[in-house]
Amino acid sequence: MAGQSWSSFSQSPHLSEVSAKPAEVIVVGAGPVGLFLGCRLAQLGVRVKVLERRLERSGSSKAIGIHPPSLEYLDRIGVAKAMTSQGIKIKRGKAFTSKRRLGEVDFELCPKPFSYILALPQFITEEVLEKRLKELAPCALEQGVSVCGLEQTATEVLLSCEKEGQLETFSASFVVACDGKDSWLRKQLGIEFVGRSYPDSYVMGDFKDSTDLAHDAGIFLTKEGLIESFPLPCNMRRWVAKTDTYLSKPDLSDLIKPVQDRLGIVLDAESNKMLSSFKVQRYLAERFTEARVLLAGDAAHVLSPIGGQGMNLGWLDAWEAAAVLQSALHAQDFAPLFATYSRKRKKAARKATRRAEMNMYLGRKMTFVGLKYALVSLLLRRPFKTILARVFTMRWL
Ligand SMILES: Cc1cc2nc3c(=O)[nH]c(=O)nc-3n(C[C@H](O)[C@H](O)[C@H](O)COP(=O)(O)OP(=O)(O)OC[C@H]3O[C@@H](n4cnc5c(N)ncnc54)[C@H](O)[C@@H]3O)c2cc1C
Repeated sequence: MAGQSWSSFSQSPHLSEVSAKPAEVIVVGAGPVGLFLGCRLAQLGVRVKVLERRLERSGSSKAIGIHPPSLEYLDRIGVAKAMTSQGIKIKRGKAFTSKRRLGEVDFELCPKPFSYILALPQFITEEVLEKRLKELAPCALEQGVSVCGLEQTATEVLLSCEKEGQLETFSASFVVACDGKDSWLRKQLGIEFVGRSYPDSYVMGDFKDSTDLAHDAGIFLTKEGLIESFPLPCNMRRWVAKTDTYLSKPDLSDLIKPVQDRLGIVLDAESNKMLSSFKVQRYLAERFTEARVLLAGDAAHVLSPIGGQGMNLGWLDAWEAAAVLQSALHAQDFAPLFATYSRKRKKAARKATRRAEMNMYLGRKMTFVGLKYALVSLLLRRPFKTILARVFTMRWL
């Protein structure tokens, strides 16, 4: 919303107040989920502020998969075109053993127009969302602002923030914590983050595409463990390989060797653009609300990246949160709205976590590998194929 007017606020005498700018809703964190929520709230005519501690965004391309339900919402906030024009439309996921093809998931069986998974590096996704937020609400995003104090009254939330070495106070009727998996706000609210680490670990990297998979994803269920491969813009390809132990500082051979040994595919070391490793965890906030604060995105749930759902699930939270907040601003009693949000989004997160687990289990080393191949081949036939395409593209969450 353009032309916001912020009035003065002074309620915390212990803070040196540089300025005071009450919004109706403050979003903490300008990752993909906070930026998306800022756009949607602004579009709904809600006065929104998005506070982000970083001055510059990271160039990391960790989340690359954008699923159809998200694309529908991204379209509604006016960014789907900018994203699809820069990304790769993955229409099929082909499953292989190390030697033969098992079948394929055809995403074109999903409802149109977004009958594909879009591959787009996370930093481009964030750039597009940030640009859109600036169009919808030019003053909403404040960078270099780290939230470090929280107080809730009967009518508002007060946030103390550090900005350029000074303390500044912001207030709003409601706050949404989109501050990532180590959420300071969630901890401050005393909301437990229940979960555990899995034994699984992976190494991943981006290389020039030397396969004949073109715009298809490749899922290789080898005896030695899963290898996944996804097309990226600029003729690059993301490779992810399961490792026996977590490699904190992987080198190129940690990815090139398993791909060559298990699949006979030679990756071009010279073309490597990114190399990293990750362990896998599942965590779920015991509740997604506390008085006037909502949680969304990784602040509320962390799941295995195998299947690429975390950011997408956060956007589905944000879509729902925006509608709930718009109603709450005019409601006599917002508590039932928040309780419904918490219940619904927690249920969706549980479902997504189970789906991510299934993807991960399928990729583990197995004693009865023939049985696994038979099961996957069966699932890749009709009628299961259509259901699988929808489950894989995050329908029913
Ligand atoms: C290897 C890997 C691959 C992945 N691939 C996919 C994929 O393909 N598809 C998918 O959907 N998901 C994927 N994910 C998950 C996805 O990256 C995350 O779910 C997503 O980044 C979460 O977004 P978020 O906005 O909730 O949190 P974050 O991206 O963590 O953003 C939180 C923001 O809050 C800011 N912040 C934190 N504390 C404060 C504070 N006190 N004050 C102000 N600002 C603060 C941070 O600086 C940050 O910018 C992947 C994850 C990994 C690790």
